[in-house]
Amino acid sequence: MTDFSGLELAQPILRAIADEGYTTPTPIQQKSIPSLLQGRDLLGVAQTGTGKTAAFALPLLHYLEENTAGAPRKAQHRQPRALILAPTRELASQIGDSLRSYGRHLRLRTTTVFGGTSIRPQIRALNQGVHVLVATPGRLLDLMNQGYVRLDAIEVFILDEADRMLDMGFSPDVKRISAKLPSRRQTVMFSATMPKSVQGLANGLLRDPVRVEAAPAATTVEKVQQQVLFVAKDKKRALLGELLNDQGIERVLIFTRTKHGANRVAKHLHQAGIQADAIHGNKAQNARQRALASFRSGRIRALVATDIAARGIDVEGVTHVINFEMPNDPESYVHRIGRTARAGAAGIAISFCDHDERGALRDIEKTIRQSLPVFADHPYHAAEIANDPGAGKRRPGGRASHKNRPGQRRRKAQRPQRLARPTGEAA
Ligand code: AMP
Repeated sequence: MTDFSGLELAQPILRAIADEGYTTPTPIQQKSIPSLLQGRDLLGVAQTGTGKTAAFALPLLHYLEENTAGAPRKAQHRQPRALILAPTRELASQIGDSLRSYGRHLRLRTTTVFGGTSIRPQIRALNQGVHVLVATPGRLLDLMNQGYVRLDAIEVFILDEADRMLDMGFSPDVKRISAKLPSRRQTVMFSATMPKSVQGLANGLLRDPVRVEAAPAATTVEKVQQQVLFVAKDKKRALLGELLNDQGIERVLIFTRTKHGANRVAKHLHQAGIQADAIHGNKAQNARQRALASFRSGRIRALVATDIAARGIDVEGVTHVINFEMPNDPESYVHRIGRTARAGAAGIAISFCDHDERGALRDIEKTIRQSLPVFADHPYHAAEIANDPGAGKRRPGGRASHKNRPGQRRRKAQRPQRLARPTGEAA
């Protein structure tokens, strides 16, 4: 199957897909859509950037459009037919936007509800009638407890980014919510990773699911040109300012580990005359949306984000991702760098690695099964960090490792890399 017409989707949906400019279903869409159209439960292992939203949204819209199965066509007051749960506000609002785009030729009503913003307009929308409800767990429970939404008419339940949902401590909320769902329903779960906890959740929610997987991490990140720059911790800010003097870095997403770190980096950039903003969980929803909108429109060149805040952010044309601090886990690394090289474009990811982060880098390289080329030809390159084989073995809170891992004892500086504009990038 090479194009969407081979999928048995309703004409208005195919038209919307064409409006979006999509010509070929992505692998995860090819694997998921036929089973979902047959009404099967599904467990999908796929990260943001693989086209997973459309993978579940298109069959959902098709089902709601074609199968009224006794359900009234008109959107019902406080009683949605489909529920999509997402861990973060950004992801929920992007899923809502995608549903509206793909459903633009249908008469289905989608409402998105999340915390950190006034509940009143959300109540009003639920009162006016809703087919698809996209929600974060906390706000949904609030609305349920206050009687503004009932889940007894839910026919399709979709849980997106299940791993992140559990990481963020939403497990009890998800259980409370799923306890209110009718047992006769279609259930779909997507997760970027499949640790035991997620598998356990899936076992409780899904019935005889089809399991589909997007290309493994190592291949989804193939298009990203990755580099590591060994640098002392106290030189990172100066290095960042220096790198951003290169106007070839047109639209850059910078990752820090903490919210305060994100603020500090954004402030530093600001002082250096670089238009930047930060996005993280301590910011009010409208401030986050403003920052995102400015980044999308190109008014600011740099957006500094924490991992959680950046989940689900979908901005076209991110030319560079900079890991100002290495993430603690390799999955976050893959998520971060997947923000560039979206939908066929190429991108560059540069990681700043200090002495204490060598262990994290080793774990990442093991997971992606490649060693990152070293950007050695740079004034800030710290050879002593690059060449210290023991560096970073004792990680904060972790056990010291005394094992020699083959092939990872001594890193040789590789050919210097240039910070050119990514090749093959869509204009
Ligand atoms: P997602 O993994 O759902 O976050 O989607 C990643 C990006 O791919 C979004 O910007 C989508 O608009 C885009 N996308 C999804 N499906 C396709 C497709 N079949 N062809 C081209 N772009 C797509």
